[in-house]
Amino acid sequence: MKRIELLSGDEALARGAYEAGLKFAASYPGTPATEILEYLANFDDVDAQWSVNEKTAYETALGASIAGVRSIYSSKHVGVNVAMDPLMTSAYTGIGGGFVIVTADDPQLQSSQNEQDNRFIAKFSKLPMFEPSSPSEAYKMAKAAFDLSERFDTPVIIRLTTRVAHTKENVETGDRAETENKPFAVNAAKYVMVPGHAYKKHIALEAKLVELQKYGEQSEFNIAEINDKSMGIIADGTAYLYAKEVFPNASFLKLGFVYPFADEKIKRFAKEVKELYVIEEQDPFIEEHVRGLGIVLKAKDISYRIGELTPVLVKEIVEGKIKVEKAADARKPVLCPGCSHRSVFYALKKLKAIVSGDIGCYTLGALKPLEALHTTVCMGASVTIMESLSKYLGHDKVVGVIGDSTFVHSGITGLVDAAYNQAKGLLIILDNSNTAMTGSQPNPSTGVNAKGKPTKKLILEEICKAAGADIVETINAFDKNLQNKIKELMSKESLCVLIARFPCRMIERGKMVAPVFNKDKCIVCGACLQIDCPAIYKNMEGKITHDAFLCTGCNVCASACKFNALQAAQ
Ligand code: SF4
Ligand code: SF4
Ligand code: SF4
Repeated sequence: MKRIELLSGDEALARGAYEAGLKFAASYPGTPATEILEYLANFDDVDAQWSVNEKTAYETALGASIAGVRSIYSSKHVGVNVAMDPLMTSAYTGIGGGFVIVTADDPQLQSSQNEQDNRFIAKFSKLPMFEPSSPSEAYKMAKAAFDLSERFDTPVIIRLTTRVAHTKENVETGDRAETENKPFAVNAAKYVMVPGHAYKKHIALEAKLVELQKYGEQSEFNIAEINDKSMGIIADGTAYLYAKEVFPNASFLKLGFVYPFADEKIKRFAKEVKELYVIEEQDPFIEEHVRGLGIVLKAKDISYRIGELTPVLVKEIVEGKIKVEKAADARKPVLCPGCSHRSVFYALKKLKAIVSGDIGCYTLGALKPLEALHTTVCMGASVTIMESLSKYLGHDKVVGVIGDSTFVHSGITGLVDAAYNQAKGLLIILDNSNTAMTGSQPNPSTGVNAKGKPTKKLILEEICKAAGADIVETINAFDKNLQNKIKELMSKESLCVLIARFPCRMIERGKMVAPVFNKDKCIVCGACLQIDCPAIYKNMEGKITHDAFLCTGCNVCASACKFNALQAAQ
């Protein structure tokens, strides 16, 4: 039955996959891809799971496909890096049941540590890629991707960007198709990638790409719109929509099936138009290929490779302007009032510790005025960078900090590495029983699964001991002795883990009692402002204000005030 639903790009893609008979979905939360798995977890007939990281998600989804069921892997762009090992080889093995990979890229770094353009993953891995420019297209392409996957025995990538993933649109949806599982057959030549088998599979993969290119030539998602021939634009994704808005009368070649390139279609289109432009967000993925075909085109200045496109920027590109970078004037992100990460960073700052950090809300500890976090590279790197910094700068100066979800994702292997290589140093696990930054998803240390049902709970203390930490201790993140405990463990000639535990304020809203603020005692020394809590600030008259409504009573500000103007409630 047809119906109209208001869906985001993530939800529309998930809906299309569901209707295509999807039975297994695996992901690790990461903006802007998180909502795909969250949407799929609502269906009883989809086995949807949060995995501990993107590699395990990819492998379980591939395994489900090998078993014969339609499956999907989804993650943000940097998550695909974690899954690259199985991804590259799955291009050789091919699939059983249809298998779709979703990469949700983040131009403009709304919530990411880099701005990589994962269209290149398609070329690098030799896998076909769709790229929708709207939720409706994401819905249609999800269905087409499963069919293509089974027709060509290949994983198929769908690339979203934040703008498409989070935009909402009315989408005409339908009913679920009940698909038969593909029969599983033992086939070592297909699934066992020893060199002899893999070599043959590589030859087959190159031949498959030629066939996929022919598909691209015919694909309904590669559309030539011939209008005014004085200006032709080749574009993909949201770049197509922006260009169409600015130049409605131009001719367009909209690439929705972006890899392998539909060379003949591109050549024909280039011949039709007088001046050819390629409009694309981020890197010159299409531009370089079109040039490689010997076609002359007008390219954008390299300054437009950074950040998101807009209609205004598209106009500037065509006018041949260089992009003028404007300083961001967005409000500074800040930890929630009463966030348990704040007390840890406040203690680390007072100890003048050199802190290797990780990916999560606690990355905000790097910003002024806390400035208590000094490196952030990728998931899990806090542990291994702590290992090296401790070796060369002294373990009594260095601390690593990592969240519970990130520790399970890829911190455990780092801790094993540190123990195996006899490192000394202190790792603090900021355990707020939550994957907070992406919207409070559960993880193995919370004891709840993606469908909200109880499951086995990973005990962090036990896993840290088993990984080889010499000393493992647990403390309430707001314990008065926190700073002394950190100092004590930093001085040990050992590999130590301190689990600083307190629930995230997003899941634990029960208030402790707010401190008492006596404004007459306040000398406006500013010490309490250094902890960067939104519930305490300087007002227009330059006086300190304590917002008892926002305050959750963590008392970190009270411990900072030497003048008893802020006093912990008794
Ligand atoms: S969401 Fe939770 S972990 Fe993140 S800043 Fe807020 S309280 Fe802290
Ligand atoms: S630390 Fe105490 S005295 Fe200093 S500004 Fe804050 S409330 Fe006032
Ligand atoms: S007690 Fe102080 S630091 Fe804690 S939430 Fe309230 S105002 Fe913020």
